[in-house]
Amino acid sequence: MDPREKTGHEVPEVGMLIARVLVATDGSEGARLAGRAAADIASRTGAELHLVHVWRLVPAHAAYPGVMWTDYSYLSEDEARRLLKREAAGIAESGGRIAGTHLVQDAPAGGILRLCRRLRPDLLVLGSRGLGALGRLALGSVSEAVAHRAGWPVLVVRGGEEAWPPRRVVVGDDGSQAAAAAGELAALIGGLFGAEGVVVRAFRSPPGAGEAGEFEEALYWEGQALEGRAWRIGKVLGSRPVARLVEGDAAAEILRAAAEGGDERRSLVAVGSRGLGAAGRLLLGSVSTKLLRAAGGSVLVCPQRSPFVSRYDEGLA
Ligand code: ATP
Ligand code: MG
Repeated sequence: MDPREKTGHEVPEVGMLIARVLVATDGSEGARLAGRAAADIASRTGAELHLVHVWRLVPAHAAYPGVMWTDYSYLSEDEARRLLKREAAGIAESGGRIAGTHLVQDAPAGGILRLCRRLRPDLLVLGSRGLGALGRLALGSVSEAVAHRAGWPVLVVRGGEEAWPPRRVVVGDDGSQAAAAAGELAALIGGLFGAEGVVVRAFRSPPGAGEAGEFEEALYWEGQALEGRAWRIGKVLGSRPVARLVEGDAAAEILRAAAEGGDERRSLVAVGSRGLGAAGRLLLGSVSTKLLRAAGGSVLVCPQRSPFVSRYDEGLA
């Protein structure tokens, strides 16, 4: 059944929702891939594209040889400005139109977040790694800190040149409003590139389940709710996603769905996060934390309190 008949809701005009994209660069390859993704999204949605580089002076003692300083590799504002200019030129060369560049003097994560509060982007795009030296990590500390603290949807781009654009969108849906918004935002992005969709809701059966039949009934309604979500996502994506209600660990099931497409790097994984407000900003849900670290491709995290979610709510009102 058409869910609108059941609920009386109209589908909000999600096509209007990406009006401003901000991409953060430290001059690394990872950030360049993020720049390409951000420029692609901006040009296809007509959104304004902004670029930020955050720098701070290296204390003299840290500039001694042998001291590893991973946040930045230069010592002066001039160098920072040159880096920003070079990266902006790179994006422009590949066809991106930049509406604004921003040089911020601060610690990297704090500086990015501070600019976001002023600029209010609908989407913040970061590389998954930067110039840092710990190459074995899949996620750098700046991306991790920003993803944990941002009140905006954050797209962490990963997987190298081959990974973008995504071929499939895998939405982890726990029934929350944040997950609904993440799903539609991911569908909007995936739809720009003709991606297919999968919506995954993982559950655990309680001990003794099945005896009273209540559990089967609850599962039935979960399935119905998930179909409703898939329907909405399909409207935005342009094709009907597969809805999968599955018993297991949520992060593991989402990763499994991401790998099914053949190349997991081409799967864009999208999840909501709790976003517990100022006091609890450091607490990303464990599923989003695992996915940010373990997914082979890009990850979109949509916090509960993002402007996108409130507009999504208005759309439902
Ligand atoms: P670490 O810095 O923890 O050693 P890393 O350098 O590999 O690790 P991050 O610093 O988290 O990884 O970089 C990931 C992404 O964050 C980059 O691709 C870029 O998008 C953004 N970023 C990092 N540093 C800056 C910065 N100084 N200014 C703007 N964006 C940054
Ligand atoms: Mg770094």
